[in-house]
Amino acid sequence: MPVETKTTCPYCGVGCGVIAAVGEDGAVSVRGDPDHPSNYGRLCSKGSALAETIDLDGRILHPEIAGRQSTWDEALDLVAEKFSAAIAEHGPDSVAFYVSGQLLTEDYYVANKLMKGFVGSANIDTNSRLCMSSSVAGHRRAFGADTVPGTYEDLELADLVVLAGSNLAWCHPVLYQRLAAAKARRPGLKVVVIDPRRTMTADIADLHLAIRPDTDVALFAGLFSHLVKNGAVDQNFIAAHTMGFSEAFAAAVSFPEALERTGLPAMQLREFYRLFTASEKVVTCYSQGVNQSSSGTDKVNAILNCHLATGRIGRPGMGPFSLTGQPNAMGGREVGGLANMLAAHMEIESAEDRDRVQRFWQAPRIAEKPGLKAVDLFCAVAEGRIRALWIMATNPVVSMPDADAVEAAIRACPFVVVSDILRETDTARHADVLLPSRGWGEKDGTVTNSERRVSRQRAFLGAPGEARADWWQLAEVGRRMGFARAFAYDGASGIFAEHAALSAFENGGSRDFDIGTHAGIGPVAYDALSPFQWPQPAGRGEGETRFFANGGFYHPDGRARFVAVMPAAADRTDAAYPFTLNTGRIRDQWHTMTRSGKSARLSTHIAEPFAELHPRDALEIGVVPAGLVEIESPRGSVVVRALVTDRQARGSLFAPMHWNDQFAAKARVDTLVPPLTDRISGQPASKNVAVAARPFKAA
Ligand code: SF4
Repeated sequence: MPVETKTTCPYCGVGCGVIAAVGEDGAVSVRGDPDHPSNYGRLCSKGSALAETIDLDGRILHPEIAGRQSTWDEALDLVAEKFSAAIAEHGPDSVAFYVSGQLLTEDYYVANKLMKGFVGSANIDTNSRLCMSSSVAGHRRAFGADTVPGTYEDLELADLVVLAGSNLAWCHPVLYQRLAAAKARRPGLKVVVIDPRRTMTADIADLHLAIRPDTDVALFAGLFSHLVKNGAVDQNFIAAHTMGFSEAFAAAVSFPEALERTGLPAMQLREFYRLFTASEKVVTCYSQGVNQSSSGTDKVNAILNCHLATGRIGRPGMGPFSLTGQPNAMGGREVGGLANMLAAHMEIESAEDRDRVQRFWQAPRIAEKPGLKAVDLFCAVAEGRIRALWIMATNPVVSMPDADAVEAAIRACPFVVVSDILRETDTARHADVLLPSRGWGEKDGTVTNSERRVSRQRAFLGAPGEARADWWQLAEVGRRMGFARAFAYDGASGIFAEHAALSAFENGGSRDFDIGTHAGIGPVAYDALSPFQWPQPAGRGEGETRFFANGGFYHPDGRARFVAVMPAAADRTDAAYPFTLNTGRIRDQWHTMTRSGKSARLSTHIAEPFAELHPRDALEIGVVPAGLVEIESPRGSVVVRALVTDRQARGSLFAPMHWNDQFAAKARVDTLVPPLTDRISGQPASKNVAVAARPFKAA
């Protein structure tokens, strides 16, 4: 009989439950977990192909120093020695960790504790910076904490679901399946898709708004005006629970201005405003099209303003809902895995919070100020300000904007550690020390999905070679740096228990994030832990708390904030670079394809890198369908297959970010993206890049 283990999909932020079965011959099969409340048995193509991605080809099986196999002791001693030396000579801010939404919460917790509490720097940032940091910043401005109030069930209960900058069908496929099924059951449920591209998601839309890139602020600031002028705001809610309404209204834009900036037909804009006004139960989901922008935080607040103005928050079937891209982007936020946050949603800028966390950790020091966010972190590496860098479970040489410059910076860094499962990633090949990590199916811990649901990832396979958990590697380095007592963990359950205890330490210092009921959890209960949504304060069970149900928010006065947002200039094109490039994902690949690229089945969906462009643009520049197109920005060029389609708006291109030099030469699309970021969140603007395009002519 196969042995079955309940675990969680390691790909997107939907966080589907998976049952993995290992047969007597060792063969692995997967199916959706019918009892998991995020997917109820569903899986998408990527989740269904998980068993095809867990072979040992290309795995790092032993630690390596400068390309030669070493023992764990040698490698860990060297890491501790180099980090300690850099700190002693150049100070705590001369070292950095760059981590990943692929890490489990327990890994994230130990990394954050080591860097912020024991090194004394906040130079720990994550590839989740590229995913949802604008939403974090927007929530903190509006709500006073990084609280995502939505649940998946809200989409099924809503009368109107607005999907802003979200290709749900490809990027959160099981949530899309749930929405599509709800719409089929209840045709009154309307869907509006806001996206410059006509994506697969738009196929179920009652209204697709193909706005100009980066004009979401104008769209929602115009909606805010419309709601006020049409008497559709909830004056009682505004008066009792918010601040800043008048200032936000003064900054809001008129209908003609919204029309002019978004480039939408008047009929469509009117229809969207009418639908939003007339529907009480509105859920607005937003994802990378909103977040990955130089105005990402303002976009988020423009959306939140509309929900606050109508009081459509904190009740079933309504509210704003940020969808996380990565499997554990939310878990990373919980433990302070961003350079500008402390553990358990506490504030690094707050002396009281710093003191609380330092005392809880019994740490010798605590980071006093925010650290370097991803783009700035790699700039600091390039400038020689970072002397020792540890990269965990991510491939920034492919995924960071200005990817060539990031590669040059890593190459020039005096000491680089990479913990990963694969030895030949574009980043791993620059490591001075390469550490073998456990992969999905081999490691134990928790992840938190977009609706704040914490689920277990459980091991059902033995670890290959000498691969060890990321938290173990960090704890061992912490011990060798002189902090043996603080990092004396003997398993993931103890780390989770400590994380839960910190969330409830001194009665709710963490504001919204509290999972204190799990503070005393032991290994057996941890192993059996069922998926649950936070908050779960001690003594209160799941389902009793809907965020903002009582109109209370997390600013000191308990009120939410409207934010006065103003549309910024969005067009970056000029005569030399006349096209706007939008980067993103495709349905069947994940990030830089280090795992999903192993599945032949997944590659049958789209087998090679490509760029979509409109037929008239293709005609004008002489690109033929399925021919090769060269795309160039001031930072470099790529050559990909042309996919000529009228789903793409004129003047724009779409290219996926997955492919790297292992799969096709000159295909790293992020080499084109400038290191331009949102001024508040630091999230890169990966969806509005001025480029030139031409037919490729081989030299
Ligand atoms: Fe995995 Fe996301 Fe697909 Fe669910 S929707 S199976 S979490 S990739």
